[in-house]
Amino acid sequence: MQVFDVVVLGAGSAGEWVAGGIADQGGSVALLEKLRVGGECPYVACIPSKAMLRSAQARAQARHLDRLGGASAAPGLDPDRLAFAAAVRRRDELSHGRDDRGAAGSIVRRGVSLVRGAGRIAGPGVIVSGASEIGYRDLVVATGSGPVIPSLDGLDTVPAWTSDQALSAAECPASLLVLGGGAVGCELAQAYAGFGVPVTLVESAGQLAGHQDARIAADLAAVLRGSGVDVRLGVSVTRLAATASRSARALLSDGTAVEAARVILAVGRAPATAGLGLAAIGVRPGEGGALRVDDHCRVEGQEHVWAAGDVTGIAPYTHGANYQARVVTENLLGGSRAADYRAIPRIVYTEPPLASVGLTEAQAREAGTDVLTATADVAQMARAATDGAADRAAAGRLVLTADRARGVLIGAAAVGPRADDWICEAAVAIRARVPLEVLADVVHPFPTYAQSYEVPLRELARAVRPA
Ligand SMILES: Cc1cc2nc3c(=O)[nH]c(=O)nc-3n(C[C@H](O)[C@H](O)[C@H](O)COP(=O)(O)OP(=O)(O)OC[C@H]3O[C@@H](n4cnc5c(N)ncnc54)[C@H](O)[C@@H]3O)c2cc1C
Repeated sequence: MQVFDVVVLGAGSAGEWVAGGIADQGGSVALLEKLRVGGECPYVACIPSKAMLRSAQARAQARHLDRLGGASAAPGLDPDRLAFAAAVRRRDELSHGRDDRGAAGSIVRRGVSLVRGAGRIAGPGVIVSGASEIGYRDLVVATGSGPVIPSLDGLDTVPAWTSDQALSAAECPASLLVLGGGAVGCELAQAYAGFGVPVTLVESAGQLAGHQDARIAADLAAVLRGSGVDVRLGVSVTRLAATASRSARALLSDGTAVEAARVILAVGRAPATAGLGLAAIGVRPGEGGALRVDDHCRVEGQEHVWAAGDVTGIAPYTHGANYQARVVTENLLGGSRAADYRAIPRIVYTEPPLASVGLTEAQAREAGTDVLTATADVAQMARAATDGAADRAAAGRLVLTADRARGVLIGAAAVGPRADDWICEAAVAIRARVPLEVLADVVHPFPTYAQSYEVPLRELARAVRPA
């Protein structure tokens, strides 16, 4: 049995990062992958979803070209179906046709031993894959997550897709029912609506986007409604049935019914820990199947087992996976690095996007913090006027949350054009605990959306300044 310094289970964002980082420093490393090197992000998640959203946004902009002064009259556009096919071609180019040969080749060139196949822990220091045994000094579990399939009466009788299937398919459904109003559900709903697909989105919670600030979540609902999505909040599907035309008919908890040619299941994702053989090393996953890790990303109770990415249930984003992978890599190379999750941005890439970082007002109060908040109307920024985004539905707002006693920012959330980029200013402020009076003195270029920070920051700085 060949023994490696490090064996990595799963070659997604986290696994690729760790394996490459160890190999770059001369360590021996085996990377096991049962499907595609690169994991879900480049092929069936981040990249294809952002590609489809971009195409839908380009089409929406083109429709309003005359209002933007780019044409003297509204231009004629080709039919939605033809445009959808073009968007799918572009999506598939950007996601390499879901072919991982390029990614596999580059990881092997870095000196990683790539093993194609599922790996399972057989006991301390030993992984099995097919008939092979592979030894490790350190093990990194980076097996990602999978879609939660809700247990719904009649689900097996209707045409339903997970996000992976939706983002791999060429078909443009005649109509859609999206179950779930998290990032995945909202993004897919807007992308399809942009090609004229009638979309209904059903979310059982009273708001979209999980535990966001309620005002920001309401802005996101307005954005989706403005894109033509029928957003139903606080209702759930009680039963599904196939119609004579093979569509899905969903009965909702409020007594109404929705019919759609396809259902998209976007009710969440669960860490992929089933079947990994964790019991062979005495590890039991936590709630929802997540691998519990300490702040060094070491699996609890294990000296030589680490985890990174969605499998930990912490910060389930590509940038979260890469961050934990950086922490693990540094620790495997002899460092002692602790992860700090206070300022990991969370984005819903609609147009305009929802971007947030840190705590909401409710979360901070629950933690016993003396909280201050201030808001800005992004539509009031000069840039919103020049960009043609000067109404609330198109421009949204910014909500800042501060800790009065410490005089620092602890949370920010926004719906607004390019908020996915300008939220990073708040991320730095939260991570580095920059005093509010310094933040309030920062000068932003004119005209930008980042100027939205200035008035609320001055308000917060005044409120914490001793009289
Ligand atoms: C539709 C969608 C859109 C998204 N968009 C964004 C976005 O825009 N930005 C963002 O930051 N995040 C986004 N995410 C989340 C992001 O994709 C994940 O957080 C990220 O890919 C997680 O990386 P990972 O390495 O933990 O897991 P993965 O990328 O899932 O990699 C895990 C790998 O492990 C392999 N594996 C599992 N079990 C085994 C085993 N036993 N043996 C060998 N291999 C195994 C799997 O085949 C997989 O390749 C999106 C997710 C979805 C579903």
